[in-house]
Amino acid sequence: MKIPLLDLKAQYSKIKEEIKSVIEEVLESQQFILGSKVEELEKNIANYSGTKYAVGVSSGTDALLVSLMALDIKPGDEIITTPFTFFSTAGVIARLNAIPVFVDIDPITYNIDPNKLYDLIKFKTQKSKFKIKCIIPIHLFGQCADMDPILEIAKKYNLYVIEDAAQSIGAEYKGRKAGSIGDIGIFSFFPSKNLGGYGDGGMVVTNDKNLYCKIKILRVHGAEPKYYHKIIGGNFRLDALQAAILNVKLKYLDEWSKKRRENAEYYNRRLEESNLIGKKYIQIPLPIYKNSGDKNYHIYNQYTIRARNRDKLREFLKENGIATEIYYPIPLHLQECFKYLGYKKGDLPVSEEASKTVLSLPIYPELTIEQKEYIIEKISEFYKH
Ligand SMILES: *Cc1c(COP(=O)(O)O)cnc(C)c1O
Repeated sequence: MKIPLLDLKAQYSKIKEEIKSVIEEVLESQQFILGSKVEELEKNIANYSGTKYAVGVSSGTDALLVSLMALDIKPGDEIITTPFTFFSTAGVIARLNAIPVFVDIDPITYNIDPNKLYDLIKFKTQKSKFKIKCIIPIHLFGQCADMDPILEIAKKYNLYVIEDAAQSIGAEYKGRKAGSIGDIGIFSFFPSKNLGGYGDGGMVVTNDKNLYCKIKILRVHGAEPKYYHKIIGGNFRLDALQAAILNVKLKYLDEWSKKRRENAEYYNRRLEESNLIGKKYIQIPLPIYKNSGDKNYHIYNQYTIRARNRDKLREFLKENGIATEIYYPIPLHLQECFKYLGYKKGDLPVSEEASKTVLSLPIYPELTIEQKEYIIEKISEFYKH
């Protein structure tokens, strides 16, 4: 049996007619840059994520970049994030000549550890010049970071918070939607995200009117009005075609995320039943916060297990037609391009350990029972021999 990590063809076959019709509409209008489709999507996403404002942009990466630009991040400013994320979270910081400062993750949720965040900030306050301006928590794999302590720390030290919700549109933290909790939230519409376009795209959401206005101006080279440049921005625009497609797909998002959750529950139960859970074999992702009975909603952009003999398991699954992925094999503080930051092996041990043991299994909504059973069967086979 062949099982891809993500089967976008299965999804497309169900919405083909609707998609074709909106694409045709955009083609007939010959309106490709911003315009009514983008405005409609911005309204829909603001509504969906419970924020006042939304700005459609060219990618999740550009959403992060334009957010930092709107906060007026200057060379030498320090921005806190984790090393266990997609590259762009830290890449955008470095591109502004600001300094990524990495805090280790919680081993269960893979998200920033608030205690370590607090320790780092306390340590930094003892230095002569406190340069931290902003925290970027990532809601990794579809689950929100523990935002309450993060917000508390941010308030105490007067820091901005940008939520990197690229993987977590629709996730909830104590009943609040991902992206609506900090000063700014960002989403990505990269095809493999839960709400994926047919190309690149992204969105910035906020409740702050000033930031909203500034980001809209930055999106078009800092011009307001056209050809009068108050500030230096860039071309960060979202295409009308992408917006039209995303408006269609947004209607299905909750249904798709629900199916991902059902798949996750299925894996959890069946892996438990096959006696594979525990330190000896694999650990499954637990969608909970320690000491929190509150309402958290995991949307499983990835179902990421911890596996003993991870690389051999991955190879075995591949030989049996099952695609998996390692998100992420090298934590950012050990990437070649960040050597100049001066981190070394052992500095952020939880992230380093995670990068050696994590494995993401297929979790897409259209997975059949037969496919899921086959995956469980092959994992069992690997460990029982
Ligand atoms: C995908 C992703 C991004 C970047 O989004 P793009 O649309 O690919 O630029 C940023 N952060 C995280 C955590 C992501 O997963």
